[in-house]
Amino acid sequence: MPERFDAIVVGAGPAGNAAALTLAEAGVSVLLLERGEYPGSKNVQGAIMYADQLQALIPDFRDDAPLERHIVEQRIWMLDDSAHVGTHYRSDGFNEELPNRYTIIRAQFDKWFAKKVQAAGALLICETTVTELLKDGDRVVGVRTDRAGGDIHADVVILADGVNALVAQRSGLRDELKPDNVALAVKEMHFLPEEVIQQRFNIGENEGVVIEAAGTITDGMLGTGFIYTNRESLSVGIGCLVSDFAASKTRPYDLLERFKQHPSIRPLLAGSEVKEYAAHLIPEGGYRAVPKVFGDGWLMAGDAGQFVNSLHREGSNMAMTTGRIAAETVIDLKREGKPMNGRNLSLYRKRLEDSYVMKDLRKYRDLPQVLHRNKQFVTTYPKLLAGAADTWFRVDGVDKRSKERQIVRSFLKGRSLRGLVGDALRLARAVR
Ligand SMILES: Cc1cc2nc3c(=O)[nH]c(=O)nc-3n(C[C@H](O)[C@H](O)[C@H](O)COP(=O)(O)OP(=O)(O)OC[C@H]3O[C@@H](n4cnc5c(N)ncnc54)[C@H](O)[C@@H]3O)c2cc1C
Repeated sequence: MPERFDAIVVGAGPAGNAAALTLAEAGVSVLLLERGEYPGSKNVQGAIMYADQLQALIPDFRDDAPLERHIVEQRIWMLDDSAHVGTHYRSDGFNEELPNRYTIIRAQFDKWFAKKVQAAGALLICETTVTELLKDGDRVVGVRTDRAGGDIHADVVILADGVNALVAQRSGLRDELKPDNVALAVKEMHFLPEEVIQQRFNIGENEGVVIEAAGTITDGMLGTGFIYTNRESLSVGIGCLVSDFAASKTRPYDLLERFKQHPSIRPLLAGSEVKEYAAHLIPEGGYRAVPKVFGDGWLMAGDAGQFVNSLHREGSNMAMTTGRIAAETVIDLKREGKPMNGRNLSLYRKRLEDSYVMKDLRKYRDLPQVLHRNKQFVTTYPKLLAGAADTWFRVDGVDKRSKERQIVRSFLKGRSLRGLVGDALRLARAVR
């Protein structure tokens, strides 16, 4: 193996694979290092994969990518202790020739993705952990690995090692994660026969459903639960801010058990066999939590850079986009013969600001703090909404005008007029 490359990419998740593929296709010599036995072996995701960004990298990915089902229906549920109020959007339009969203299983998907990266000419080495960055003064000049004699040099290192970003932390390039900027998610795989899933969720052979749920299921903590349909399994999980778990002393697995026992959820899982359990962090600090993502000889992409839009559950697409843009920046500088110093690599941040990644994170920049300070959105409102629906739909001889008054009274009692108006304004401002 050569001891010097044009670029080294740390981590073969969506960000690292996207970066290495883009570099290799442009003829840049690139080494992709992965600590797992194979790419994906250590990775956890829901997982919905958004086709658009993958298609930009591998236009014909549908030919052989390990895809589970394409999504035709999105359910968003607000749960109280015994009911849910929700919206469903289902469309035959999602049965288009090139579907937009798929469920995937990351262990299979990342492995497939990395094979494409190798086919493009990158060198992939697994079971190799990058322990720290090699520096010449402040300039990053390569990586140290856990292999004997494992120092490798490069003009630029792209850090795509995921949410903990330990390599950057150890090298003083990023602060430690703050507990209120990161969620801990636990997830199980529930196996069921394909036909049972299709019947239960009212879907056809390749069709899938996404259920996102919030409300009293998180016990006053900020977070959401989910169910995604795979071909022969359901991904079932729940995640909340680490700071909330610490303050409430709730055990994540207990929360998942409660979610699974909710009367709206339990029937969907009935008879399933649980085969896998995993826990993983998700960056949820948004725009304000994005650290410095470039410097002399280095760039940071994906979860390491906190590029996740938690409201829309978009992480893998942002990882692929930031990985690709990081690589394109390197390619352009190399073509122009410019050194990989911080000044030149700042072009990466500029390009990110112009992309949907930073535009979306900027749009929701106040949302994490607003939700954190206003827990009534996951405590009081789910109960008020379920109560209102119960009053409205129960046929009990009470006239409809009286029902309307009863509902309005319950909201005024639950939050007061000032509280209701304040909440509406707070939320509108946070997502404007
Ligand atoms: C429960 C859950 C559900 C989610 N659901 C969705 C969803 O439905 N849709 C969506 O878009 N996003 C979802 N996300 C977010 C998504 O998984 C991440 O945003 C995405 O995986 C980030 O990709 P990445 O490449 O930056 O990091 P990762 O996928 O974490 O990949 C990092 C890679 O780096 C390797 N690595 C780490 N340290 C080292 C080291 N020192 N040396 C070598 N290799 C190293 C790891 O083994 C790993 O392969 C979810 C996350 C979780 C936890």
